[in-house]
Amino acid sequence: MPAAEPGPPPETADVAVIGGGITGLAAALTLAQRRAKVVVLEAETIGWGASTRNAGMVLTGLKRGAQGLLARYGRERAIRMFRASLAAIDCVEDTVRREAIACDFTRTGHLEVASKPRHFDDFRRSADLLARDFHHSVTVVPKDALHREIGSDAYHGALVDEASAAVDPARYVGGLARAAVRAGGLVFEGARVERIERSARSGTAGFGLTTTRGSIWTRDVFAATGGYTGPVTPALRSRIVPIGSYIIATEVLPPPQAEAAIPRHRMVFDSKHLLHYFRLTPDRRLLFGGRAAFFPETRHSTQTSAAMLRRDMLTIFPGMRDVNVDYAWGGTIDVPFDLVPHAGRIDGLHYAMAYAGHGVAMGTYLGRSMAHVMCGDTNENPFIDLAFPRAPLGLYNGRPWFLPLALGWYTLADWIN
Ligand SMILES: Cc1cc2nc3c(=O)[nH]c(=O)nc-3n(C[C@H](O)[C@H](O)[C@H](O)COP(=O)(O)OP(=O)(O)OC[C@H]3O[C@@H](n4cnc5c(N)ncnc54)[C@H](O)[C@@H]3O)c2cc1C
Repeated sequence: MPAAEPGPPPETADVAVIGGGITGLAAALTLAQRRAKVVVLEAETIGWGASTRNAGMVLTGLKRGAQGLLARYGRERAIRMFRASLAAIDCVEDTVRREAIACDFTRTGHLEVASKPRHFDDFRRSADLLARDFHHSVTVVPKDALHREIGSDAYHGALVDEASAAVDPARYVGGLARAAVRAGGLVFEGARVERIERSARSGTAGFGLTTTRGSIWTRDVFAATGGYTGPVTPALRSRIVPIGSYIIATEVLPPPQAEAAIPRHRMVFDSKHLLHYFRLTPDRRLLFGGRAAFFPETRHSTQTSAAMLRRDMLTIFPGMRDVNVDYAWGGTIDVPFDLVPHAGRIDGLHYAMAYAGHGVAMGTYLGRSMAHVMCGDTNENPFIDLAFPRAPLGLYNGRPWFLPLALGWYTLADWIN
């Protein structure tokens, strides 16, 4: 990570970015390149949130599938949303190339595996729909040919999308931060924003921010706080449900065992609601994740999840029985009530979040996109004018009391479907 600024933040800036993850850093990089005076205020350390804890899958599509996008938003907007997911991968690739970020970005493709036979029938319908309505080509792999993609008998076929990619998330975040600083951005760690007030200066509307490192006045504020969105932005907090996601990483596997597990090094995830996702790392560990405990991470939930994930990993790869798990960790994702990303303005504050576990690409894309908005450029991001819904009947203010119910519901739905 780059050297963070010592001392208090400057008295004024053009833009204060709250949150030093992928979204905030991508925005800061673009703003600094556009000669804006930009300050990143990160409560912990750069990349402390989900951005360095994720599986590094740079995926096509959104959490809401193509069929769901068409049904809810109509053809024109659904196509623009899906295409934004492809543009988001290009955006990561472009950033990595232009800023020379060594982070193992590779177009590996992704593999969605069918947990039940009828899910594979859905894959065939999805492939037709993606080709017909979205002009996007994917391949279906029947069960009898699955071993060329995955060394497991647990699945009933797969769908391959060659456009997806892999990245080392921590090195990507480090590279983004260094690029933002190189371009002139200022990065403050341990700078939790505790208060935001509207405040004009010399006739210019803006905001006064109180942070644990001192105060600052800025013309614009960009909230990039993801699943860690807190009470300082209550309007955003009431629209985001923080959900835990957990990962275990095995010891380094012997080359034949790694190659047998995922021969083409794809990013893999299954078709359940409470899904598993897994991949090989460049140093040949199997990284295996899922919503094991569902709740945001604590030491206890991480330990429990690690045990559950290891058990689940062995149902998929029984041959890994003697493989040690070297690492386990958890992080919090930002899930909106409508399962599509949101980026826009609320109470005068700019924001981009709600990626529901798809933020590596989308965070880069929407961070960059919102930076352009703050610079006054026209913007074509299809999420900008979408209503950002709260919970039905206003039954949520940021404390997700309903997570046990949701966990029960999805467990049941996975069992039935
Ligand atoms: C285990 C796991 C696996 C995942 N796997 C994938 C994957 O393979 N592919 C994918 O696309 N996505 C994945 N995701 C999701 C992805 O990591 C996130 O969508 C993405 O990192 C969001 O980035 P962000 O910058 O918006 O938020 P974050 O990286 O979460 O950063 C938000 C930051 O805001 C800071 N903050 C909060 N409040 C304040 C405040 N008041 N003042 C100052 N700072 C504050 C926090 O400290 C935090 O660092 C995964 C997530 C997890 C947890």
